[in-house]
Amino acid sequence: MTTSAKPDSPTPAAPTVPPALRIAGLSHTHQANAGPLEALSNIHLDVAPGEFVVIVGPSGCGKSTLLSLVAGLETPTSGTLEAAGKPITGPGRDRILMFQEGALFPWLSAQANVEFGLKGTGLSRRKRRERAKGYLNLVQLEEFAQAHAHELSGGMKQRVALARALALQPELLLMDEPFAALDAQTRDAMLALVQKLWAQQRHTTLFVTHNVREAACLGDRVIVLSHRPGTIKASFRITAPRPRNIEDPLVIEAARLIKNALVEELDWLRLPR
Ligand code: ADP
Ligand code: MG
Repeated sequence: MTTSAKPDSPTPAAPTVPPALRIAGLSHTHQANAGPLEALSNIHLDVAPGEFVVIVGPSGCGKSTLLSLVAGLETPTSGTLEAAGKPITGPGRDRILMFQEGALFPWLSAQANVEFGLKGTGLSRRKRRERAKGYLNLVQLEEFAQAHAHELSGGMKQRVALARALALQPELLLMDEPFAALDAQTRDAMLALVQKLWAQQRHTTLFVTHNVREAACLGDRVIVLSHRPGTIKASFRITAPRPRNIEDPLVIEAARLIKNALVEELDWLRLPR
């Protein structure tokens, strides 16, 4: 029987093309007020160009810390991070991080929010305007280009945030539970949109979620982190055909396998299986 999720083996990279992201022996300890707090331990992960990798793990296992390290917002305690073969030493426009709350400027229109993100890229004002318009069209918000954040629904705000991130044409798109605050229907529409855009543009993506169905719906690979300090507990390659829907039997089956790996990590909470 074929299954939609298989235990993972590393993606064989062409020898001349470095991985879009290489994480080697990464550990990180936060210096918290209460003392040092080990968030991640000995993470090894290669992400191939154009690949969509999803990270799942229990709350507090270091998922956001991992994205923050890849974004260059924090420096790892040990180990190395490389983007397209170059060491990550700080933030860069090649790696864009998108959060649960889109963090739009409320006093700017949707169009101006996307344009603002393009400041400092060297594009002329006219080019910035054109590019922002193009990406708002891509996320199907052309009619709301002049609307302000308070006039937009939660899903629309996240679409603006997605347009703003993609307009920068990053080498690596980092998404930290971007749909966690949305209602189920809006979330499903966003999953369809993200898959459509990824099929068109193939931007390498590292996506964090605690929702196993969402993970199985989106990922080429799904990486399961252990309870803190986060280590890679399991890794699955998802082979279900795309575009996927959260209700597809193969997605449900893959999600079940991922959940089995995750539930072992939740045992410390004595949650029912
Ligand atoms: P997740 O995103 O998986 O829920 P986080 O990466 O946010 O987990 O956090 C991992 C652990 O590190 C948690 O125990 C959290 O409290 C702690 N932590 C995160 N950021 C900081 C920080 N800046 N300073 C101190 N502790 C932190
Ligand atoms: Mg988090």
